[in-house]
Amino acid sequence: MVDIIIVGAGFTGLIAGALLSRKYKVVIFDQNNFIGGRAATRTPKEWGWTDRTDYSIDFGHHVFAMNNYLELVLDLVGAKRYFNFKLVKMPYFYKNGKLHKPPVGILEQLRAYPWISFRAKLQLRKFLKYVKKVSFSEVIEKWAYRPLNDLYDEFDFDENARELFTDGFSAGYQTLNDPTKNSAGDLILCMKAYLKGIRKYKTTLFSAEGGVGKIAEALAKVIHQNGGEMKLNTRVSQIIVKNNKAVAVKAEDKNLRGKKNIICSTSVFSARSNRGRQNSTRF
Ligand SMILES: Cc1cc2nc3c(=O)[nH]c(=O)nc-3n(C[C@H](O)[C@H](O)[C@H](O)COP(=O)(O)OP(=O)(O)OC[C@H]3O[C@@H](n4cnc5c(N)ncnc54)[C@H](O)[C@@H]3O)c2cc1C
Repeated sequence: MVDIIIVGAGFTGLIAGALLSRKYKVVIFDQNNFIGGRAATRTPKEWGWTDRTDYSIDFGHHVFAMNNYLELVLDLVGAKRYFNFKLVKMPYFYKNGKLHKPPVGILEQLRAYPWISFRAKLQLRKFLKYVKKVSFSEVIEKWAYRPLNDLYDEFDFDENARELFTDGFSAGYQTLNDPTKNSAGDLILCMKAYLKGIRKYKTTLFSAEGGVGKIAEALAKVIHQNGGEMKLNTRVSQIIVKNNKAVAVKAEDKNLRGKKNIICSTSVFSARSNRGRQNSTRF
C-alpha cells in the first residue's frame, strides 16, 4: 500500500509529489499520457494542433517570479539542477498609447509612469521601503487576512497607484485580481521577492530553457529518484471517503488505498461533487 495518492500530475501535483516523496511512498495518477497539465511542453502534433514534430511549444507562455514560492520549492527538492534556469527580461506594458518600461532603481522609478503624480510616487516609495524592512511574522500577523484595499488605505494610495498595484503586481502574482479579496500579506511577500530579484538580476522573472515542461520533467525526475511512481493515462473516477477522510481512489475499476492521505490537485472544473452522497466525489 502507498502512503499518499496524488490525483493530477500538473504543477500542483508534481510539486506536492516532489516534496512528499522525500518522506513518504507517493503515487501520482494523471488521465493524460503526459505530465505537466496546463504547464506542459509538447510538439504541435502531440498537442493535436498541426502535423509538425520538429519543435515543441508550451500550452501557454509561462514565466515565473524569482525568489518566490516555485523557485523556493525547486531549490528545496533539488529540481533546479535538472533544467536550465533562464532569466527573462521584464516585459514592457502598454498604457495610454505607449509602451512603458518597468522601472529599476530610484531614478527610473521617479521618471516612470508619467500619469502618476509625484506625490503618489513618493507614497509608493514609502510603501516599497516598508516592504523591504517588514518582518515575515509582522506580514502574517497584520496583513495575511486583510484585503489589498486596507493596504492601499494605510499608505494613502491614490486611484492611479491602486491601479498600478492591482493590475500590475497583483494580477502578475495572484490568480484573482480583486482588491477587496486578494491577500495584502501575500502581495507584500511577493513584493519582497520582486525587490530582491530586481536588485540582484535587474529582472524578477525566470523560465526554463526548452519550455515550462522542462520544469515538470525536473520535478518528475526528483519524484522517481525518491522512489515515487507516476501512473499516466489513468483516470481517477472516484475518491472514496470514510468518516470524513479521503481513504482511497478508484482507477481502472480498482480501489487503491492511501495509508496517509489522498491529495486531489485537479482543476475545480474537472471535479464534480456527487451530490446527496457524503462518502465520495466522482469526476
Ligand atoms: C495560457 C496559460 C498561460 C499561463 N501562464 C502562466 C505564467 O506565466 N505563470 C504562472 O505562474 N502560471 C501561468 N499559468 C497558470 C498555470 O499554468 C497553472 O496555474 C498551473 O499549470 C496549474 O497547475 P495545476 O497542477 O494546479 O492544474 P493542471 O495543470 O490543470 O493539472 C491538473 C492535472 O490533473 C489531471 N486530471 C484532471 N482530472 C483527473 C482525473 N479525474 N484523473 C486523473 N488526472 C486528472 C489533468 O490531466 C491535469 O494534468 C498559465 C496558464 C495558461 C492556461
